[in-house]
Amino acid sequence: MIIVHAGSEVVPFSKTGGLADVLGALPVSLGKKGHDVIIVSPLYKSVAEKFSPEKQAVSFNIKLNDQTLPADIYSIQINDRTTAYFIGNDALFLRDGLYVDKNGIDYSDNSKRFIFFSRAVLELLKKLNIKPDVIHAHDWQSGLVPIYMKTLYKEYFKGTASVFTIHNIGYQGIFWHLDMPLTGLGWEYFSSDYLEFYGKLSLLKTGIVFADAVTTVSPTYSREILTPEFGYRMDGVLKTRQHDLFGILNGVDYEQWDPEHDRFIPHQYGSDTIDLKHDNKTTLNRMFNLDNSDAPTIGMITRLAQQKGIDLVFEAMGRIMSMGFKFVLLGSGDKPYEEKIKDIAHRYNGRMSVKIGFDNSLAHLIEAGSDIFLMPSVYEPCGLNQMYSLKYGTVPVVRSTGGLNDTVIEYNPSSEKGNGFKFKDQNPDQMLAALKKAMDVYDDKERWQRLIKACMAFDFSWDRSAADYELLYKAYAIKSYLHGQRSTAA
Ligand code: ADP
Repeated sequence: MIIVHAGSEVVPFSKTGGLADVLGALPVSLGKKGHDVIIVSPLYKSVAEKFSPEKQAVSFNIKLNDQTLPADIYSIQINDRTTAYFIGNDALFLRDGLYVDKNGIDYSDNSKRFIFFSRAVLELLKKLNIKPDVIHAHDWQSGLVPIYMKTLYKEYFKGTASVFTIHNIGYQGIFWHLDMPLTGLGWEYFSSDYLEFYGKLSLLKTGIVFADAVTTVSPTYSREILTPEFGYRMDGVLKTRQHDLFGILNGVDYEQWDPEHDRFIPHQYGSDTIDLKHDNKTTLNRMFNLDNSDAPTIGMITRLAQQKGIDLVFEAMGRIMSMGFKFVLLGSGDKPYEEKIKDIAHRYNGRMSVKIGFDNSLAHLIEAGSDIFLMPSVYEPCGLNQMYSLKYGTVPVVRSTGGLNDTVIEYNPSSEKGNGFKFKDQNPDQMLAALKKAMDVYDDKERWQRLIKACMAFDFSWDRSAADYELLYKAYAIKSYLHGQRSTAA
């Protein structure tokens, strides 16, 4: 098949979260299965400066309301099956941040930027004369791709299936109704059956409504988002698409995340050389100015956002410290959270340490040097760090929601089955009880070693998830092909 992925961030070129990890790995996995894969993403400043992509001969204009905006095309050949194309428009994308300015405020023209991007993806394919079997669009930034395939570009893409993935339903690409003319679609589409969402325009909703198939990133989350608690007001819309909604767990890119050949950590180790994990803990202690005791160390790497359960951590921190844990956190995000967590860390000098920022190499060191990885998320569509943690023998303690529920199996002290500890409610007592269970096992060194080994044996490679996507693509590509044939005959 020819498969196109459209998304706003892709490892190694750009990243703010898990979407980038997915787009860095899934296309390559599909390529390995023999498909031809194209990734389309914006040409941000960081991509232009750090990766020097090759400028292509093709370029075109996109008309957005009364403006005509140029798109220059750049590309990088990832391997012989996978090509990344970058849509360049200096005014829209050549900025320091992907979606927000240096104060963390959304760019005021985000609707224009990503409406332009969604259209440019299809225009590019047309200009290159590529008719894919599937176009797979990700998150609200690519949310208009499916509707354009059924309207403005209907004739060209009539045999192509569209798949839309929701990586996080909390981000809905909502803009005021007066951005509607930017879409190039008539006002008749501004209705509750289509683009309109509580009086505004939602690019995420549009993707959900118009894609042939809708997926999200874990089976549990695919059920949760159908409920008011997790649906963030999209549960009603999602219910109308329930028969085409699937949950496919993200995988891990073990080329990037494997302690046996991780170039970001000082001491590589595998399940036969677990002792070396301890040397990484020593380095972590030094980097984070923690005392060198053997106290169990909790690591967190997270966006500092309400979704990640940071409030629960604040509430419980005093008790976590008095239980005898050490605690390291790497994160960035909402300013009030950043200030408060720094403030708390000052109180526990030597036993708690926080670094504010986005630092991939430090993230690897935390995975390698911590004993326990904490993810108390309010909701978690898939979550990647708990899967990385398993590979690094860092035992996850998680709230049983979304992908955390699908990947962490409660440890049973009698059978010694399981790979971590879970708690159900957003409640500090429950979280502390799960941490206490982990500490009890930690105190029994031999048992802990066996648990670490069991964790490291879990395999969440992309291969399996890519095989699920492959099945889905085939099913929907066949449907689209046959529908396309039928409309041609008519
Ligand atoms: P989300 O996409 O909701 O932020 P995921 O767990 O799906 O959460 O993915 C987060 C990804 O971003 C992981 O690869 C994680 O290691 C990384 N990450 C998050 N915060 C930071 C940070 N401050 N520094 C480095 N990496 C980070």
